[in-house]
Amino acid sequence: MLKVLILGGTSEAAELASRLDADGRFEPVTSLAGRTRSPRPVPGGRRRGGFGGAAGMAAYLRSEGVAAVVDATHPFAMQISEHAREACGKIACPLARLTRLPWTAGAEDDWREVETVAAAASVLAPGARAFVTTGRQELGPFLSREDIWILVRVIDPLDEPLLPERGTVLSARGPFTADDEVGLMREHGIEWLVSKNSGGRSSYAKIEAARQLRLPVIMVRQPVLSAGGQVYQSPDAVIDWLGGISD
Ligand code: NAP
Repeated sequence: MLKVLILGGTSEAAELASRLDADGRFEPVTSLAGRTRSPRPVPGGRRRGGFGGAAGMAAYLRSEGVAAVVDATHPFAMQISEHAREACGKIACPLARLTRLPWTAGAEDDWREVETVAAAASVLAPGARAFVTTGRQELGPFLSREDIWILVRVIDPLDEPLLPERGTVLSARGPFTADDEVGLMREHGIEWLVSKNSGGRSSYAKIEAARQLRLPVIMVRQPVLSAGGQVYQSPDAVIDWLGGISD
């Protein structure tokens, strides 16, 4: 069986793990950064926590006899993808990236596109009430804006709660429907949505909800990764590629 390391943390990674686990040719092991205290179970093997940079990942790949790596991490998780490129290059381990096409704005969408999360915080209108969905690790620029009120949704509670006059933190785990998101944004009087352009289906409902409510969206563009490995947009395409390695 071909041992495949899946760099995970996304719904696409979980789908790939499930497909590979059900296919007798492959032995998938999903690696998670360990940011979520109780992550959803994934089929196949699992490991948690950083590798210790590219050198640590290369050592892991060798010692565990990994035959191929699939980088299915979030499009904004740049560092782990760069480490995978370096580690696989160093020990000549086949690498593919399972990624998602970015979302595109339709005629009814009102998007303000920016390059970084910090820029997103700076373009919010004075006094805005914003639903900030860019992740718990990047709240700093929004907390520095003392004139705005933010709604934040996280899986595990924040270590320090927000003062009520600065915002509200909800603990919830998706997926959410567009109706859920419309209800939530109405309940909190949201005037702006801030989102990363993550692409894919699993977190698109908030974009649909903003469209229905005619709210402006501050959209952080996907970063550009350096080239390295094959790039695929579906688990099927990755499985075909892995099939070629196992033959
Ligand atoms: P990052 O900035 O690219 O990675 C920072 C460090 O965390 C890496 O150098 C690595 O540590 C460790 N790491 C990250 N992903 C890992 C994985 N799958 N397995 C083992 N170690 C991992 O990543 P991030 O933006 O913090 O994202 C962390 C995880 O959350 C990823 O798995 C990603 O798919 C998921 N996620 C991220 C976002 C986002 O917006 N960034 C959104 C949803 C989900 P070492 O150098 O020690 O190996």
